[in-house]
This record gives sequence, C-alpha cells and structure tokens, in this order.
Amino acid sequence: MRKQIVAGNWKMNNDLKASKFLVKQIIKKLKNNSLKNTRVIVAPTFVSLEKVAKKVKKTKVEVAAQNMHQVKKGAFTGEISAEMLKSVGVNIVILGHSERREYFCETDAILAQKVDAALKNNMEIIFCFGEVLEDRKSENQFNIVESQLKNGLFHLEASAWENIILAYEPVWAIGTGETASPEQAQEMHAFIRKIISNKYNREIAENVSILYGGSVKPANAKEIFSKEDVDGGLIGAAALDADNFVALVKSF
Ligand code: PEP
Repeated sequence: MRKQIVAGNWKMNNDLKASKFLVKQIIKKLKNNSLKNTRVIVAPTFVSLEKVAKKVKKTKVEVAAQNMHQVKKGAFTGEISAEMLKSVGVNIVILGHSERREYFCETDAILAQKVDAALKNNMEIIFCFGEVLEDRKSENQFNIVESQLKNGLFHLEASAWENIILAYEPVWAIGTGETASPEQAQEMHAFIRKIISNKYNREIAENVSILYGGSVKPANAKEIFSKEDVDGGLIGAAALDADNFVALVKSF
C-alpha cells in the first residue's frame, strides 16, 4: 500500500548548527503525533547530512540527500556518490529537481544514470519532474511529464519501483507562491498513474507514492493532500520552519 509522505527539501539553506537545530525542533514537535501512515523526510545540504542522519536515527524522521553523482568515485570535483551517501547513513536521494535540471544542466539521460546508480546501492529515490510555465500555457504539460518519466524511469524493471517515490513539481509553482490548484494536481497525478499502469501494471501504478511540490504551505496543504492521487508533498520554503513543516505533516 502506498504511503503518505511529507519531505522537506532544505536546498542551500542552513549551516550545520542551523540544520541540527531545525531537525531537533521537528523531532520534538512531532513527538506527540502518531504520524499514522505518514513518512517524514528531511533533506539538508551535504555538509549536514551525517549529523542530521545521526540525530534522526531513533526517530520516525528520515534523511535524504538533495543530489548525487552517477559514478562511484573518481575525478569529479565537487561531487558525491551513492556509496558516500550510504557511508554516512543516507538511504534516500532526491533526483531531478527542477533547479538541478535548470542550473546544473541535468538531462533526462544523466538522471537515468543517477537513478540506476542509486538503485544499485539500494537507495530510495524521490524523482522530481514537471513542466515549465510555457508548457502549461500551451497545454503541453502532459507530454512533458510523460517524456520526463519515460526517459528517466521507464527503463527500470518492475521490481525497482518499490524504491521510487515520484514528485510532480510544476516549475511555475516552485518558490513562486503560486500553487497548482488541487484539481490541477489531481488531474496530473491521475495521468501519471495511468501512464505507469500502461507501461507496467495497475498494481505498480497504485502503489507508487506521488507527491506534489510547489508552494505548499499549511494554508493550502489539507486541500491538496486530500485529493485521491496526491500522497503528500515535497516542500521547499515551508520546510525551513519547524512549526510550518510539522503542520504540513499533520495536514492529512
Ligand atoms: C521545491 O523546491 O521542491 C519546492 C516545492 O519549493 P517550494 O515549496 O518553496 O515551492
């Protein structure tokens, strides 16, 4: 059965001290919450990963990296491999975030390699994708999403999908304050399940968690998360404040 997930992408925010403080606050504020069926994931920067991973160890909070390189080791200055993430207790990685695609030229082909490297290391992947504003305006969003999924993930064996979490993030809604309407999110999530079902089968399509991302905050989360095919959120700005983040976790 698919899980509800709230994942906080801290991006390039919070030094080590601030990261430790934020995760401590989140753990403390979640204490009285049974979390029901909800997974809670935080993704700090590389420098804070090891310490945050240690802090969440005996809690229900999980830790993810924001990116990784597709190669195990070598002359790739500034990069970090799946093996390195595993060595500090990180088993989840966000791949394909629109900021990685746009500012760091990550193509679908590179992302497919990163997906393979993460899976080879038994990591779980939060795979991000979504259309830009021009595509939405020209009603091309479904083609874009389908091609991002095909190119990044549809080479996988059916069994690999156990380790995939999807995050539909329309680029026009990320960090802009503009959210897709709950109906727009539902429409796209249902479409995503349909193409996965066509490529694989209904069981895989029904079992994969599909998160929505793009200016989710406590004021709009309940309505978005209540949609049938929305299993939670990948959260940017609102994940940097413990009260807001915990309110999102409690929004189901
Ligand atoms: C994100 O970066 O994944 C994101 C959804 O950001 P925000 O919530 O700030 O729009």
